[in-house]
Amino acid sequence: MTPPNITTKRPSGRGIQPRKYRAIQRRDLDSLPQLSGLSTEELLGMKAVAAVLPFRVNEYVIEELIDWDAIPQDPMFQLSFPQPDMLATDDLAAMRQLIADDAPAAEQSALAHAIQLKMNPHPAGQMEVNVPRLEDGTPLPGMQHKYRETVLFFPSQGQTCHTYCSYCFRWAQFVGMDDLKFASREADSLRRYVTQHSEVNSILFTGGDPMVMNASLLSRYIEPLLELDHVLSVRIGTKSLAWWPYRFVTDNDADDVLKLFERVVKSGRHLALMAHFSHPRELETRVVQTAIRRIRDTGAIIRCQAPLVRNINDDPLVWTNLWKRQIVLGMVPYYMFVERDTGPKNYFEVPLARAYEIFNKAYRRMSGLGRTVRGPSMSALPGKVLIDGIAEVRGEKVFVLKFIQGREPSWAGRVFFAQFDEKATWLDHLKPAFGEKEFFFEPAMRDIKTHHRAPAWGDRSKFVKRLSEFGHVEWM
Ligand SMILES: *Cc1c(COP(=O)(O)O)cnc(C)c1O
Repeated sequence: MTPPNITTKRPSGRGIQPRKYRAIQRRDLDSLPQLSGLSTEELLGMKAVAAVLPFRVNEYVIEELIDWDAIPQDPMFQLSFPQPDMLATDDLAAMRQLIADDAPAAEQSALAHAIQLKMNPHPAGQMEVNVPRLEDGTPLPGMQHKYRETVLFFPSQGQTCHTYCSYCFRWAQFVGMDDLKFASREADSLRRYVTQHSEVNSILFTGGDPMVMNASLLSRYIEPLLELDHVLSVRIGTKSLAWWPYRFVTDNDADDVLKLFERVVKSGRHLALMAHFSHPRELETRVVQTAIRRIRDTGAIIRCQAPLVRNINDDPLVWTNLWKRQIVLGMVPYYMFVERDTGPKNYFEVPLARAYEIFNKAYRRMSGLGRTVRGPSMSALPGKVLIDGIAEVRGEKVFVLKFIQGREPSWAGRVFFAQFDEKATWLDHLKPAFGEKEFFFEPAMRDIKTHHRAPAWGDRSKFVKRLSEFGHVEWM
């Protein structure tokens, strides 16, 4: 038996055939060899959906993730290719007709836009309520500061993805409805804001996907934060490990990206890749496993999250296998989300009661190492709300709900109850249990919406925890 090679610091990625990234989009649907078995009608349906919803894949997804013998049910196909039932029957028929008639482009895009507007493009006041300001009043549209400890940052060069997920809740920005007005170019305003807010200890880069940026751009955003003593962790939300693991293995600047990760870790901070994995298939290829190994060798931690979506992962076995594989590969299961009320939600939504059942069946099969995962969780306007159980209290069947993050920090950890409802798919479908008129957080939410009142964050000075206070261990 050959002894395991423990001296190689970073698996070189040798043996992995490099690929050059190329986006495959709507205009390529006619010429993709893998689709050549489809009828003209089927292709037309796909083109109709791709006129309304974002579509982009790449060769890795097509050649290594999708099982073409199993389409259309194949989960990777469902996750990346347009499916006719994602549009309402009438909308689909109208769009198909325009394409079949070869109607003028302007007419096609006008119809597409009308359909998009019907699909709740901006759920839950996402952006309006959470835009922070500098102390001089300057609004910072490329940021969200909703929970006390964490600032979300949307770098403008990171507002696309290597492949679009068919269920994406940020779909509207990829079809050009948002004009990227929520993105920020300014590394400096991020730094200034965080400097002014000592209660913030975690910066979360998100998108789109920040990992579409090259190493030098990434470092321009990240490195200035390493000067701030109260920034304890940096997180990068990304689907690149699933959609383009070459980013960390054979891309030109893959090594530079890993060096940047190492610098963050060496600075004494926690660097977390918040990786989006929807299905265990995404963890099976050699290149993704090499990418994971290389990232872990920098000292970064990979935490995993994904929404529960019908037709893709609405099965307890899929989640068990997903979490088990994550553990084996040294990653940490983090969140299972409830799919948001936007876009093709009718196609993807899973009732909360069913979501709880799927989560719980999968959770029961995990050892404690996998029970770091929390869910099913709704990222809603008042906070992240967990469906913690279904119970009967004095004859009334109820959902036991719990805030895992609250717009008011004091809400975190608080339990509340809603009437059980087999069909409900989102928080705003639920009614308070036990005859109560409203949920405890509703008066505060009204206040926030009408007066744009900033959340009550208490005495900040109490929360200051500086890196230097911990005593920095030189460990790499
Ligand atoms: C989920 C989320 C965060 C991060 O929450 P954690 O529980 O710390 O992972 C921060 N801001 C917003 C707006 C979020 O939705």
